[in-house]
Amino acid sequence: MSTAIRPLTSFIEGLASGTIEVIDLTQPLSERTPLIKLPPPFANTPVWTTHEISRYDERGPAWYWNWFEGGEHSGTHFDAPIHWVTGKDKDDVSQVPVRRLVGPAIVIDKTAEARANPDYLLTRDDIDAFARRHGPLPPGGWLLYRTGWDARANDQEAFLNANASGPHTPGIDGECARWLAGESPLVGIGVETVGTDAGTAHSFSPAFPCHQFMLGANKYGLTQLANLVKLPPTGAVLVVAPLKLVKGSGSPCRVLAFVQR
Ligand code: MN
Repeated sequence: MSTAIRPLTSFIEGLASGTIEVIDLTQPLSERTPLIKLPPPFANTPVWTTHEISRYDERGPAWYWNWFEGGEHSGTHFDAPIHWVTGKDKDDVSQVPVRRLVGPAIVIDKTAEARANPDYLLTRDDIDAFARRHGPLPPGGWLLYRTGWDARANDQEAFLNANASGPHTPGIDGECARWLAGESPLVGIGVETVGTDAGTAHSFSPAFPCHQFMLGANKYGLTQLANLVKLPPTGAVLVVAPLKLVKGSGSPCRVLAFVQR
């Protein structure tokens, strides 16, 4: 058989030669990881906490291990359709078909816009402009929305960027979210911020349109991504690996990208 019909052979050669690079898009997960903070009367996620079971001591002389407590939506994490009321009869995180967790990524960079305006919202026009320059959106693909917000990910206050009027972080406008969910061939949206929706999305109509439309359409969200700056606009392959939590609404997630050099 020729290598032309053995793509995994080429892939292995690419990994060995370094022409395929593996990029980690995951933020570190610890007690310092920023968490979303909902206003009263809504309930919130507790801080990620690690408890030591033993560390080469009388509790376990040759082994080190911990247990942890934390929310499904902590750090770099995956939103399953069941997370939102519009997707309540759809997949939990253990039921998501793994085929949909591997796919092509496109990266739209609005770092300059988000620097000038932390409430910047991605629009259909932005998507159309990207497609004119880079080609149509790939079926089964993921939109990774770069805003430069990853630079704030080690500082809860800067990351949430809240003032008296609430949080101010970039997001996606309602009409764009509706189109991505209902009409685009993509299966997911990934962002660098604490959630897929903008900080001001509580005031949109409908509120939280990314959650409302994407999860209601049995599509997915990914948050708090890192290293999007290392990805090309098109051509990377994304691997999304949430824990297989039975009845889980989401999960902390390791997210990797393969990039051809
Ligand atoms: Mn979430």
